[in-house]
Amino acid sequence: MSFPPSFLEELRSRLPLSEVAAKRIRLTRAGREYKACCPFHHEKTPSFYINDDKRFYHCFGCGAHGDIIGFVMHYDRLSFPEAIESLASLAGLAVPQDTPQERERYDQEKRLYLLMEKTTAWFEEQLFATSGREALHYLQGRGLTEEGMRRFHLGFAPQDAQLLIRRMTSEGFTPDEMLQVGLVKKAPDRPDHYSFFRNRVMFPVGDSRGRTVAFGGRVMGEGEPKYLNSPDHPLFHKGKLLYGLSRARQALSQGQPIIVVEGYMDVIALVENGYLGAVAPLGTALTEDQLMLLWKLLPPLDARDPSRDYSPILCFDGDGAGLKAAVRGVARALPLLTATQTVRVAYLPEGEDPDSLLKQSGKSGMQPVVDQAKNMIDVLWEQTIASRRLQTPEDRSAFTQALREKIKAIRDESLRRLYGEEIKNRLDALFERNKTVERAPAKAGFSKRVPPSGPIIARKGIGNPERIKEKLMLAVMINHPELFGEFGEEWLRISFVNADLEALRRHLVDLYAETEHDPLDAAALYRHLSGDAEQKKLEASLNDLLSDRTYVYGLFARPDRSTEEARKGWKSIWNKHLLERYQVDFEAAKKLYMEDPSDVNRVRFETLREQVRLLTDESVGRDELD
Ligand SMILES: [Zn+2]
Repeated sequence: MSFPPSFLEELRSRLPLSEVAAKRIRLTRAGREYKACCPFHHEKTPSFYINDDKRFYHCFGCGAHGDIIGFVMHYDRLSFPEAIESLASLAGLAVPQDTPQERERYDQEKRLYLLMEKTTAWFEEQLFATSGREALHYLQGRGLTEEGMRRFHLGFAPQDAQLLIRRMTSEGFTPDEMLQVGLVKKAPDRPDHYSFFRNRVMFPVGDSRGRTVAFGGRVMGEGEPKYLNSPDHPLFHKGKLLYGLSRARQALSQGQPIIVVEGYMDVIALVENGYLGAVAPLGTALTEDQLMLLWKLLPPLDARDPSRDYSPILCFDGDGAGLKAAVRGVARALPLLTATQTVRVAYLPEGEDPDSLLKQSGKSGMQPVVDQAKNMIDVLWEQTIASRRLQTPEDRSAFTQALREKIKAIRDESLRRLYGEEIKNRLDALFERNKTVERAPAKAGFSKRVPPSGPIIARKGIGNPERIKEKLMLAVMINHPELFGEFGEEWLRISFVNADLEALRRHLVDLYAETEHDPLDAAALYRHLSGDAEQKKLEASLNDLLSDRTYVYGLFARPDRSTEEARKGWKSIWNKHLLERYQVDFEAAKKLYMEDPSDVNRVRFETLREQVRLLTDESVGRDELD
């Protein structure tokens, strides 16, 4: 489509660039111009200038340069015609069309948008009318304020199947137009139309520019289907849109993450609590198109703040169904991953969805979920390792193959190679660790209280997942001494393989003994350490331990986290280690029992089998996949 130059000129003259830009970025006046931090590359001091007289913007940092149309295209990520359309509606100008057919199609489309807008307003009106009382109570019962309902233009579709049709007819729309956008249906054997949505709470679904293009209608109380969504029509394709999309770009520019959740109510609850980037698919699982749509919102690589993770967070319920959905979501995203487009995965506490979690504990309940979103590589690793045994060469081979199989799905060649390398490093570290367990080395020089068969954990360097676990456990011990009463026995029994961490653990245990469980804190431990050169090294380890370098792997270990959170985090790691140890013992007992089926060996075998089973039940919960 081409536009007459005179029209483009009029557009430019009607809208000052600074006015349009000010709605998107923070401008400050600088003489006859405006300046800002460039939205097109990452910078801390402004080198982006707007000159309204000359009608252009220029960045002295990255060379970005253009007029108002270019700015909107670039910033809002729109095509040229889309940018024109958006600016024209802002300026109150009609977009000239090339051919009569185009003109007609454009006019028709415009009428359909208008029909959707009027219908949204009418549904909203019904919600606050007498007939909508039940719906209003229903929404209030779900914790929504009137302000919140208005913000999302929630509405009510009355039971009477003719009301909407009568109203929209009086507004000048035809039943055929209503049929086109799925507002009404028509029985094949009857001449009249009837409303598609009846006696439902209505959620208008906006397109990327916020124009209503569809509705989701929810029954109040019981009834099927729980949600009824508009069918696809010329303005709406459910697989290519997300609920909350128009807000997501704004959220990104405010430094907030995109959070993909399951339902309308989840999005609303999140936005009401300040998470503007919440979006949800429309009654289906997340599609490739929807992922692409989200990635399209992200700024180009050179405009990104390198310290910030822009990747959308796929948020799943912590129950079995949620975990299965997470596996499917990851499988859908894998082929599409590149250096600039990836996702993270976050799990909600079991039995919660964002709506219920926020109601129960507000932002302080939700923020840890967001903060602990995991990278793809970790998710992939955890999903594959979950509930697997890794004792025999066959087990390990199967595990390795399963991982390689998953990575194959990544289409981006260089990323696939990097995933391969990372997986190889992790496998090496893991199997090295397992070897250590099998050898069960005797350890000299430990405190007498430590039996030599404590769970044996890490072996080498930073980034080793086992060293990380060891650090997390120790950080909980230091930051949450109130748990000593509960875990003291385990804290005495455990032994770490990393010498520096083990030394710190022993200092801590001595300190507990000396102070007879008086209140302890990290400062007390530092005092306990001060001394010779050996201690200096430990102090360095301690500094490293009590820092984000540790907490980044498990926020529950931080001193400012609740006891409950710390307890949960510790328990899950502890259970995994016990399980690993018992599995080794169990394999040995099994072998012994098969060679010599005596009563003693049978009891030993059965006892260990039961212990492994109990621990598996306890710790798998969220890991039970496939
Ligand atoms: Zn720039």
